[in-house]
Amino acid sequence: MRQSYEWPEDNSVTINGDFVDYLPVFLDLRGQRVLLVGGGAVAARKAALLQAAGATLRIVAPRRCGEIELLCTQPGTEYLAVAFEPAQLAGCVLAIAATDTADVNARVAAAGRAAGVWVNVVDEQSTGSCLMPSIVDRSPVIVAIGTGGASPTLARRLRASIEALLPERMGELARAAGARRGRVRAALPALTARQRFWEEFFDSALAQQILAGASNAADIDAGFDALVDAARAPQAAARGGAVWLIGAGPGDPDLLTLRAQQLLQQCDVVLYDRLVPAVVLARVRRDAERVFVGKEPGRHRTTQQRIHELLIEHTGRGRRVARLKGGDPMVFARGGEELLALAQAGVPVIVVPGVTAALGAASSARIPLTHRGAAQSVCFVTAMGEAAAALDWRALAAPLQTVVFYMGAAQLPQIVARLVEHGAPPERPAAIVEHATLADQRVLAGHLRDIAAQAATATVRSPALLIVGDVAQFAGLAPAVGVKTA
Ligand code: SAH
Repeated sequence: MRQSYEWPEDNSVTINGDFVDYLPVFLDLRGQRVLLVGGGAVAARKAALLQAAGATLRIVAPRRCGEIELLCTQPGTEYLAVAFEPAQLAGCVLAIAATDTADVNARVAAAGRAAGVWVNVVDEQSTGSCLMPSIVDRSPVIVAIGTGGASPTLARRLRASIEALLPERMGELARAAGARRGRVRAALPALTARQRFWEEFFDSALAQQILAGASNAADIDAGFDALVDAARAPQAAARGGAVWLIGAGPGDPDLLTLRAQQLLQQCDVVLYDRLVPAVVLARVRRDAERVFVGKEPGRHRTTQQRIHELLIEHTGRGRRVARLKGGDPMVFARGGEELLALAQAGVPVIVVPGVTAALGAASSARIPLTHRGAAQSVCFVTAMGEAAAALDWRALAAPLQTVVFYMGAAQLPQIVARLVEHGAPPERPAAIVEHATLADQRVLAGHLRDIAAQAATATVRSPALLIVGDVAQFAGLAPAVGVKTA
């Protein structure tokens, strides 16, 4: 039979299962005495953790390592250079057996049981009466992971997944909420109204802003008051929308940032470009509305003006809009124009960087963009359309640098001709990375004299980047997926 245990005060704990081996609790150890038996590196790690939790330590070990010696200088810490004796448990609420002798550890456990003191035996969880969990620390938010002693390795792996899932500033968010609980209790006396308010708060653009580190205390207060007001007058429908300008990276969904993934799971609508592949879109919350605003062959491009209007319309309806762009939103992505339009309309914005195509291409084709003696600087350029004439081609043709051309696939011959005309030697290495980081990535390695012809033969398709400079030789060396050399 499955049972469910619920803690009625805050409904925060539900444990399902036939029985519970261990009950997770959080101990307030401030000012409490804890016995630590052991003087080695393992004991030192536990000692540091216990001291961080405010415990007063009694350390028992005939010999101690340097770290323990250092920890013993903490005020209140007692050190006994003797063997373990049950009498040392007097006045302790908890004991940790951290010696490398199973026999001593077992004696601590038995003495603890007899004296009614909780005992944790390090690395031998079945002997003691309590376990030390793996911890994800976003204080005051703490996640404790236990496997009932079945597998510390599994606990560590779970911890790594949860670490990646929980935003770094989760603690700040919790503190921001905690500091305002009184205000909410006063404004919304009904429990259900308060519960609904907090749900909305943690879903809100304000909460995301706190997690992104994009708010100061005054912003938080103002945003919070607006949310409280909206909750008191639900008809006013004043829930604020926001735009999250998110870099989708060069294509491989695993190159999304953690913040991008977190926000893509929260948005109500996503406006995306042609460069955002389906595998990345698949990471967007399933019930979010998807709006394509790129240019498709044979169809009209959504104008930049129309994109601004859409962003403002959606946010005006209180929606959280993910504006998802290929690569980085601040690199050849008209991010600046969108930022200006949104600032004018008073819409809050969070910008999330992405791996720009040049960086994605460089790593997946294994081309270092800088290299001692070959390139001291790197330059990202777009040579599209009329703007190309205004570029400083002499500077781009200079040696000892790497120049990465975005949006150049269609005008390769012109780019190459201009570089050579302005002094670049035809022997200068050049590489093309097509569909970088995607399953069908291709790399062409050559020189200015032949790269355009190679691209024509191979019918290179957009998106592709041209990388010019001595470092492009690396493209010929690397056995990357799909490499084709001259
Ligand atoms: N904001 C984007 C750039 C948009 S401009 C970024 O930071 O990456 C579009 C150009 O980027 C394309 O024409 C192409 O040159 C380049 N590009 C984008 N994704 C690419 C990819 N996966 N492989 C190669 N080039 C890419």
